[in-house]
Amino acid sequence: MEFNLSDHQRMYLETVRRFVKTEILPHILELDGKHAFPLEIIRKAWETGILNLSIPGDIKGYEMDAVSSALIIEELSYGDSGIATSAMCNDLANAVIAQNGSAPQQEAFLRPFVDHPLLASFCLTEPGAGSDNSAMTTFMSRREDGTYLLNGAKCFITNASYASQFTVFCKVGKPTGNFMACVIVPVAAPSPEELSAGFDQGRKVDLPTGGSIAVGKPEDKLGQRLSNTAAVTFEDVVIAPEQIIGDRRLGFRYVIEVLDYARPMVAAIGVGLARRALDVTLNYTRERKQFGQRICDLPVARDTLTAMWKKVELAKLALMKSACALEEKTEDRGLYASLAKNTAAEAALYCANEGLHLHGGYGFMTEYEISKLVRDAHIIDIYEGVREVQNMIIGREIC
Ligand SMILES: Cc1cc2nc3c(=O)[nH]c(=O)nc-3n(C[C@H](O)[C@H](O)[C@H](O)COP(=O)(O)OP(=O)(O)OC[C@H]3O[C@@H](n4cnc5c(N)ncnc54)[C@H](O)[C@@H]3O)c2cc1C
Repeated sequence: MEFNLSDHQRMYLETVRRFVKTEILPHILELDGKHAFPLEIIRKAWETGILNLSIPGDIKGYEMDAVSSALIIEELSYGDSGIATSAMCNDLANAVIAQNGSAPQQEAFLRPFVDHPLLASFCLTEPGAGSDNSAMTTFMSRREDGTYLLNGAKCFITNASYASQFTVFCKVGKPTGNFMACVIVPVAAPSPEELSAGFDQGRKVDLPTGGSIAVGKPEDKLGQRLSNTAAVTFEDVVIAPEQIIGDRRLGFRYVIEVLDYARPMVAAIGVGLARRALDVTLNYTRERKQFGQRICDLPVARDTLTAMWKKVELAKLALMKSACALEEKTEDRGLYASLAKNTAAEAALYCANEGLHLHGGYGFMTEYEISKLVRDAHIIDIYEGVREVQNMIIGREIC
């Protein structure tokens, strides 16, 4: 494992840090308070080269290695983990196309993201199929002309209100069978009128090829209020064979491959948030005095700060180990992806909660960023597989 950054990586990270410092942090509490999706920041992030990291070079994408991607996502999350979730979601949705799509599919479904600041959604979770996605009921039935009809409901879908493309996992063959397919459904991006009207009434997209997609109104969330999350229902959506990625029965394998990629990236989100919680708490406890001393000089408080720092550093190590394993495609990359995700979620939760505690009553006030970080941290332990699922994977691999 190599810890030295190349000059290119260093420059790229400096650009992301500058972006976070100028575009996100100065307005973060105001933005979070509005609970409105920051489309303009997403557009600027695309211009800066922070979105679509995994798109192959053949179609003019960045084709970023896993270590660089993780470091970039970490820096963006230092600014806001919700914005990072939305940005990373493009790679989550598009990685399966980059990994298993044919050359024409890559051109058709990835190129638009290179050319325009568009957003994609990854549709796996359903109301009755969360951690156990094999219980999904979204199904595509084959028609006589060789096309399929897609029907089903997904929930908690990041970017759904704004998406111009949905990567959808669904059952195929028999609704109760084990075969899962992965299909791509491109749609028109929301019009300027839709954007200015907002999505309080949801969004309905009638597809020119047949069928429709209904996106629910954006979820009102505890945290990560700068990412967009909504339910999505597919109604008689016509799927042509060209929209099916790889083998139409191997969707389960593709999900696992995508999650092996996505979990280190969620770990990066956790590390970014944990670092931010540590920094705002260090700043606060260096300023405020009690018992005639800075809070950071009071022995028990210093122990807590030391514990926070250790959690951050250990989470960074686990993240780098998993990113290297992913880059080298080692057999045990899934194991280290789960380790990284759990370690980073633990660091994020610990640093946010203890950081709030070290702010005393002020930490409980919304005008202090630490209160936002506490709200944001919880989801890191949940999405892309809850803590128990990661432990299940680790236990299965080591025993
Ligand atoms: C903000 C947000 C964004 C999201 N974005 C997306 C997205 O873009 N695309 C997408 O497809 N999904 C997305 N999700 C869904 C997310 O991945 C799921 O919420 C997550 O996988 C957990 O599923 P669930 O909510 O149904 O919880 P459940 O599976 O019902 O689990 C509830 C609890 O049960 C326990 N539990 C579950 N399984 C086990 C087990 N095996 N052993 C022991 N205990 C267990 C755990 O304590 C767990 O927290 C998002 C969710 C949120 C909140």
